[in-house]
Amino acid sequence: MTIFTDFVLHKNVLDAIHDMGFEEPSPIQEACIPKILEGGDLIGQAQTGTGKTAAFGIPLVEKLTPANRVQAIVLTPTRELAIQVAGELLRISKYKKIRTLPIYGGQSIGHQIRALRQGVQVVIGTPGRMLDHLRRKTLRLENVNMLVLDEADEMLDMGFIEDIETIISHMQEERQTLLFSATMPPEIKRLAHRYMKSPQTIAVSREEVTAPLIEQVYYKVFDRNKLESLCRILDSQDVELGIIFCRTKRGVDELSEALQARGYLADGLHGDLSQAQRDKVMKAFREGSIEFLIATDVAARGIDVGNVSHVINYDIPQDPESYVHRIGRTGRAGRKGIAMTLVTPREMRQLMVIQKQTKAVMDSRNVPTLEEIAERKRTQMREQLIALLESDSAHEMYHQIVEELSHEYEPNKIAAAALHLAFHSESGNAEDEEVYNFGETGAAKGMVRFFLNVGRNVNMKPQDLVREISETVGIPGKAVGRIDIFENFTFVEVPEDVAPFVYEALRQTRINGKRINLEPAKPRTRRT
Ligand code: AMP
Repeated sequence: MTIFTDFVLHKNVLDAIHDMGFEEPSPIQEACIPKILEGGDLIGQAQTGTGKTAAFGIPLVEKLTPANRVQAIVLTPTRELAIQVAGELLRISKYKKIRTLPIYGGQSIGHQIRALRQGVQVVIGTPGRMLDHLRRKTLRLENVNMLVLDEADEMLDMGFIEDIETIISHMQEERQTLLFSATMPPEIKRLAHRYMKSPQTIAVSREEVTAPLIEQVYYKVFDRNKLESLCRILDSQDVELGIIFCRTKRGVDELSEALQARGYLADGLHGDLSQAQRDKVMKAFREGSIEFLIATDVAARGIDVGNVSHVINYDIPQDPESYVHRIGRTGRAGRKGIAMTLVTPREMRQLMVIQKQTKAVMDSRNVPTLEEIAERKRTQMREQLIALLESDSAHEMYHQIVEELSHEYEPNKIAAAALHLAFHSESGNAEDEEVYNFGETGAAKGMVRFFLNVGRNVNMKPQDLVREISETVGIPGKAVGRIDIFENFTFVEVPEDVAPFVYEALRQTRINGKRINLEPAKPRTRRT
């Protein structure tokens, strides 16, 4: 097992990694970091969720000097990714005196020019805006000795290859070039061949691993309301003991606090706790005085508690092995267990890799609605009431109040008011739901119709589209509604309840090699 201190890194970088809450390198990091530190070009095949950003980010930051010139650039397909990568580099360089700057279209160029003038060591940006600055001579690349192409296949799909080539022409040949891509279409290989020097390829596909035979499901969630989704899932389950996995120590701390604040019996476990603290948390968990243990992969290793009914991957595991380890914490000694994984649209690809390599069959579930949770609470309340009514216990002390009130009020009303008093506060903490409103799209009732920017021109057949939707969204093919394929575009209808996820997930995929863009359809374009 490799740990971060095994790499030849300065203390300031190691300290920053520690603060980020990473416990140990992910497989792609273990393979890439030493190679990048050594020098030489590298192609990394990895998708979001594997830790690929830090795989190049850590050695990149390690190699930067305080000299006031742009030493590294990272090209990304979208502004969102540019911002994310910049954020990660900023965290890794927390204890180093260097400046990072994301530049992308849509943000005031004046602001970017001023920031560039002040001097930055690493620029992260989309190719278009990067070119813009090169033309204005507000960005100079003569001193760049590291170039990273992140999500190269996406950049290819978005038509950025020429821009990338122009950008490269502004750079010296003496540089280290790193290319990261989830897939390796021929154009990417050609690009690598032209602009990289004997690159090594790193793909962390390992031996198949076998998932234990327990029930496995996944929930489609959105980043911005992941916590709320988790709470609803927890509220919809009969949990004996549950282990909730987070990627980082920080994640564990934040989630423990958030769940405790919402009244769950939960506590966190990770490598920064002292042995005594760890023992205390484990004891409480074993005894059932806490119901949920929130843990990192490292902390949960070797936990052997018999009656864990639920393993919940709040953050998706970084590789299939880790998935198998995590879910093996439940279903012990022949007991029943269930493993639940929360997946955001961007992580669907990572889920597919996990499903394929572990041969796991995972059912897709929707996050319970507020109404479903309320219904469940009503049922529980009823059961509690019946139990109390059937026991002869202590509620006699209330008889007198009921007796008095019943002179003036109906017994039904008294009982309902009493229930309100007892249970109302419990149902009141739901946050506003994130509502996607696609408006009128001209779809059949209960459906939403989307417009796709591809059609027969990419040889798309209805069954291709059905397969893509059912795989990336996890609904049966027959749930997909009407499909109209034209030369350059397509209309497709999907059920309302999965429409937001379809909307976000499909934008991350391709059909027959072509990246898809989709928009809610306009009603007037519906054909009859
Ligand atoms: P990426 O695949 O680069 O998009 O990273 C996915 C997430 O994993 C990001 O939030 C990272 O900060 C986090 N991450 C990256 N490396 C590690 C690690 N070694 N341990 C825990 N979390 C990590």
